[in-house]
Amino acid sequence: MTQPTQAWGRMPTPPAKYERPLTDRHTNLPRPSDAQNTLLAHGWGRSYGDVALNPGHTLLHTRHLDRFMAFDPATGVLRAEAGVSLDAILRLVIPQGWFLPVTPGTRFVTLGGAVANDVHGKNHHVMGSFGDHVRALELLRSDGSRQQCSATQHPDWFRATVGGLGLTGLITWVEIGLRRIAQPDVQAINRRFASIDDYWALDAHWMPRCEYAVAWVDCLRGGRGIYTAGLHAGAQAQWRHPPAPQRQWPMTPPLSLVNRASVWGFNWLYYHRPLPPQTLMPWPAFFYPLDGIGQWNRMYGPRGFIQYQCVLPPATMRDASRELLRLIGSRGQGSFLAVFKTFGNRTAPGMLSFPRPGSTLALDFPFQGEATLRLCHELDAVVREAQGALYPAKDARMPGSMFRAGYPDWEAFSTYVDPAFSSGFWRRVQT
Ligand SMILES: Cc1cc2nc3c(=O)[nH]c(=O)nc-3n(C[C@H](O)[C@H](O)[C@H](O)COP(=O)(O)OP(=O)(O)OC[C@H]3O[C@@H](n4cnc5c(N)ncnc54)[C@H](O)[C@@H]3O)c2cc1C
Repeated sequence: MTQPTQAWGRMPTPPAKYERPLTDRHTNLPRPSDAQNTLLAHGWGRSYGDVALNPGHTLLHTRHLDRFMAFDPATGVLRAEAGVSLDAILRLVIPQGWFLPVTPGTRFVTLGGAVANDVHGKNHHVMGSFGDHVRALELLRSDGSRQQCSATQHPDWFRATVGGLGLTGLITWVEIGLRRIAQPDVQAINRRFASIDDYWALDAHWMPRCEYAVAWVDCLRGGRGIYTAGLHAGAQAQWRHPPAPQRQWPMTPPLSLVNRASVWGFNWLYYHRPLPPQTLMPWPAFFYPLDGIGQWNRMYGPRGFIQYQCVLPPATMRDASRELLRLIGSRGQGSFLAVFKTFGNRTAPGMLSFPRPGSTLALDFPFQGEATLRLCHELDAVVREAQGALYPAKDARMPGSMFRAGYPDWEAFSTYVDPAFSSGFWRRVQT
């Protein structure tokens, strides 16, 4: 491994001291070389900040724990090592009539990473989060003990490990239940909305009718945007082939290509682009539009970028989201990617799970030092007042007080943390 591992947001961070690939799930964890050194599993590194980094300590790379262990095409139950990617799973199961029950906006994540962040997709109101579909997993601790956990077997360890940010030990394998599909493409509807207030009316109409729902928001113009909802198409819809190989973002430009002018222009064009009100979309385009360009994160230049993702509870979500968009618009730090979703009213499977009833807004900001940190600080105040929370998988800077306020079970959770495990994120939010 020549380059030190970076987070997806590519903000410069101190490197890990050691990087160790894991290849055999049956062997014990490597012993930290000195008493102060800690371990952390690292999957495909699609977390934006330091939740998957362990600066100055040891990273355990799990990509080579990539064997399928069992798949029953009659029931859709699949067991695989924790380094198997969602992409590999889809390639195996789609031709057999199955799909992931929950998927984030990229398929280049590992099973272990999906469990440890208890990731959500566009269908939380119907399917909950990834952890809701985990039937069992094996947890390997630094003392060499292994335990199989599920909702009924060691349920407390299960609740700590799902959404447990990699801190309870190494997940060696995961068993999930898939969902049946007639075919993977999606019958999608698109609607423009003029303001964030209009979003709610669209959401009230379409969310109960569709499994998937999400909105793109033009955060520089008061929150107008495009609402997209969808359902897996029926068997009669025309089958499309998987896409051609990915295009790659060619290089890291010396400066970020994302600035107020480019965002202003892009958002205008994106909002006004021809928009079929109803269309059959190939599954990669519907679920993973960003995967179409590999390493798009390079366009933010060497300083990288910050993603800010919050969840706002139902009682405050309308006022608080309006205020967040007002603040962003007035500070002029626009974001191409501004995504709004409503979560369902469901109990989360993990102690530190991010998804909860309410709405979630996710925005990418090019990192411009103090100005960006100041804006995030202002946004924090709104989220805190609204009794919302920030998403650790996307975070690179939240203060410890914000984490503790958003995750009231953090203290109970910390009793499950493996003494030999830690992360940049965890050390940061302890202060
Ligand atoms: C384009 C894009 C879109 C995204 N969209 C969404 C979305 O819609 N919803 C959402 O929820 N997230 C989303 N994400 C975030 C992403 O899904 C999560 O960060 C995911 O956890 C990354 O998985 P990974 O394999 O890359 O894990 P990493 O980022 O490498 O690690 C994530 C965490 O998992 C832990 N971990 C990894 N493997 C193991 C293991 N074997 N045992 C124990 N712990 C482990 C790590 O220690 C770390 O804490 C998106 C990310 C990108 C880049």
